[in-house]
Amino acid sequence: MLEVKDLHVYYNGIHALKGIHLKVPQGKIVTLIGANGAGKTTTLRAISGLVRPKQGSITFVDRELTRLPTYKIIRLGIGVAPEGRKVFPNLTVLENLELGAYNRPAREFRKDLEWIFTLFPRLQERSKQLAGTLSGGEQQMLALGRALMSRPSLVLLDEPSLGLAPLVVEEVFQTIQTINGQGATVLLVEQNAMAALHVAHYAYVLETGRITLEGTGQDLLADERVRKAYLGEG
Ligand code: ATP
Repeated sequence: MLEVKDLHVYYNGIHALKGIHLKVPQGKIVTLIGANGAGKTTTLRAISGLVRPKQGSITFVDRELTRLPTYKIIRLGIGVAPEGRKVFPNLTVLENLELGAYNRPAREFRKDLEWIFTLFPRLQERSKQLAGTLSGGEQQMLALGRALMSRPSLVLLDEPSLGLAPLVVEEVFQTIQTINGQGATVLLVEQNAMAALHVAHYAYVLETGRITLEGTGQDLLADERVRKAYLGEG
């Protein structure tokens, strides 16, 4: 569904991505794990058109994305829940969800909203509350819900577990599996390698701008190098 080939991104002189390759097959959860500064967010920003790669290609269902503006990329069916959630704090939960639906036909809104409220009952209870007053976990649910309101076929998730308590992290990962079960393909960027590898069908390890390892989630969970570097085992 999504294929990234030989992708290079520079920020002023800094070579942030040094020729990465990855594939996200339809219906799967693929994760990209790596330490701070490895280039995970940059990869998602390149896919969504927020940074222009210097070299390489990104194809999504046979369309080349590297020269398209972000709004066209989103319109092709890619939903984004960015790092740090970026909900609009002074808008209500419902208004944030409405913004996620801006490119959808108005007649679909009620149905889509009901779907989001089934996935996240807490958002329904708090639909009139200002997003800035939600807990971290609830804001993450809202960011996910807002991304899903555009009914994307591919969802890009940037560190959804960041800063959340362990139980809430578990809930977020369960939701990712639920939406995947309902047909969404997921590209998940995470520092929480343990949780990400448990839900991922396939995984890539990114280190200073290069993919250094790849395999199924189970393969990487069993890999000595991954266990030492990312799962905190001596
Ligand atoms: P984190 O988990 O900390 O967000 P990451 O793996 O997502 O890390 P990126 O944010 O993609 O990493 O950053 C990759 C590299 O590019 C880092 O060295 C970072 O300092 C650099 N970088 C990112 N954004 C910019 C920018 N706007 N200008 C200059 N350098 C940047």
